[in-house]
Amino acid sequence: MKKTMDAQKRIALIAHDNKKRELVDWCVKHRDVLSRHFLCGTGTTARLVADAANLPVKAYKSGPLGGDQQVGAQIANGEIDVLIFFSDPLEAQPHDPDIKALVRISTVYDIPMANNRATADFLITSGFMSSPYEHEVIDSEGNADERAERMKEH
Ligand code: PGA
Repeated sequence: MKKTMDAQKRIALIAHDNKKRELVDWCVKHRDVLSRHFLCGTGTTARLVADAANLPVKAYKSGPLGGDQQVGAQIANGEIDVLIFFSDPLEAQPHDPDIKALVRISTVYDIPMANNRATADFLITSGFMSSPYEHEVIDSEGNADERAERMKEH
């Protein structure tokens, strides 16, 4: 089913501990663009960005305490359009299954997702950041109806 993101995007921000400084710097650098959108993030990241960039950032729980799952749920609900997630590829995370789930659900719902700074730079300078964007998203209700019908046949 077709879904249209507004020109004003709902952006989720997450950074692992070793990447927090980098994400905060990136947010300060792109403050002008970010100020035109709605921001949210996992607990610690949200607070650091809000303080450094002086922007409102809705905070979910800290990542290891369920914040990644909350962001994932919001993506499944169609409440988040863009994910900026500076992940640390060099250190194991206690909430690794949650991180995998978040990346997976972002893929399912076809939302733009930047896992490093270069991708985030490309994303934030895209013309789609300031215009509506239409994409094809799985119709979750239709999908459940269709699956239930198919299961009844067996
Ligand atoms: P945090 O969570 O912003 O609360 O540190 C990020 C994470 O590690 O997933």
